[in-house]
Amino acid sequence: MQVYFDHNATTPLDEGVLAEMLPFLRQEYGNASSRHDFGTRARRAVNRAREQIAGMVNVQPVQVVFVSGGTEANNLFIRGAAAYMKPGRIVVSAIEHPCVARPAQDLVRQGWKLRKLATDVQGRVDLGDAEAALCEPTDLVSVMLANNETGVIQPVSTIAAMAREMRAWMHTDAVQALGKIPVDFEALGVHAMTLSAHKIYGPKGIGALVVDKRLELKPIIHGGGHESGMRSGTENVPAIVGFGAACELAARRMDELAQRSRDLRDRAEKGAANMGAQIFGRSAERISNTTYFAFPGIDGETLVIELDRAGFAVASGAACSSTSTEPSATLLAMGVAPELARGAVRVSFGAQNTAGEVEDFLQALGATVSRLQRLTAVAV
Ligand code: PLP
Repeated sequence: MQVYFDHNATTPLDEGVLAEMLPFLRQEYGNASSRHDFGTRARRAVNRAREQIAGMVNVQPVQVVFVSGGTEANNLFIRGAAAYMKPGRIVVSAIEHPCVARPAQDLVRQGWKLRKLATDVQGRVDLGDAEAALCEPTDLVSVMLANNETGVIQPVSTIAAMAREMRAWMHTDAVQALGKIPVDFEALGVHAMTLSAHKIYGPKGIGALVVDKRLELKPIIHGGGHESGMRSGTENVPAIVGFGAACELAARRMDELAQRSRDLRDRAEKGAANMGAQIFGRSAERISNTTYFAFPGIDGETLVIELDRAGFAVASGAACSSTSTEPSATLLAMGVAPELARGAVRVSFGAQNTAGEVEDFLQALGATVSRLQRLTAVAV
C-alpha cells in the first residue's frame, strides 16, 4: 500500500463524513427545490450544511454560495464581480492558483489592467509592493490565504485594509488554509472568500464562495436561479451535506491535526535538509502540514516518479499543473533559479500519516537522491 503524502492536492473522504452523506445518496434523493416532503428534507440538510460552513468562517449562512469547488468559486468572484463594472484594474498576487491567475489574465482581453504583486524570497506577498499597487484606483483584489505549494500564509488582512481604503472588492482564496489555521471572514476584512471541501476530508466537486452581502456578482452559470440566483443548478445535496460535516470535523480537530502534522513536517524537513535539500519558505509562517524542497541537480518529476515506485505519493511543483514542465510560477516569483525550481517536490501530510511513515520516507528519499546524484555525475 502506498503512503499518501499529497494532502494539498486532495484528502481522503473521512468515514464519518461519508456516513453523513450516505442517506442522501440512497433514500433521501429529493430535489432541494421541490415542495414535497422529500424536497423539504433535502432543503433542511442543505440549510444545516450552510450553517456549519458559515459557523466555520464566521459569517451568516446566507453569505455562503455553493458551487462546484474552489476553481468555480474563484472564477465566480473574478468574472462575476468584473461583469458588474466597466473595465477597471485588478490586483492579484504573483503566486495565485491558476484558477485565479487565468481569469484575472482573461480580464485583460476585456480591457482591464492587471497588476501582479511581488513576493519576498520566502514566498510572502511583499507588503511594500501591495502598498504601491494599491495607491492607484483599483476595483478588484485577490490574494490567497495560504499558498498551495509552499504553504506560506499571506498577509491578507493587511492587504484587505489597503483594498478597502481604495474601495476595491477584496477576495481571498482560502482553500489551503481552511482546516489548518483559523479562517475568519470578518477578522480578515475580506468581501469574498473561496472554500473547497475535498481539501478538508470532504467530497470532491463541492465548494463555496462566501460573500459580503453588499458585493454584487453576475452569475457565470444561468438557469433556475438556485443559490439566490448566484449559481443555478440542482443542489448536489450529498456533497453539500459532506462539506458541512467536513467543516464540523475540521473545526473540532484543527489544533490537534496542526500539531501532529507539524511534528511530521519538521521531522521530514530536518531529514531532507540534512541530505542537502533546499527548503522553500522555511522561515515564513506556514500551514503546518507542508514542506516544499529541491535537491540541486535533481529533476522534481523524476524524483516524484522514483518515490512513487518506492511507495510514496508526493507532488512535483504545483499538483494542478503537474502536466506542465514549466517551473513553478510561485518559485520563480520568489526568485528561485529555474533550474532549482524544476527540482521542486512538495510533501503534504494529513490526518492518517505517522512518524514511522516519515522515517521510511526519509530512507527512501536518501537512497533515491544518492542514486540520482550518482547517475547525474556519470552523465556529466
Ligand atoms: N485554490 C487553491 C489554492 C488550490 O490549491 C486549489 C486546488 O488545488 C484550488 C483553488 C481549486 O480547488 P478545487 O479543486 O476545489 O477546484
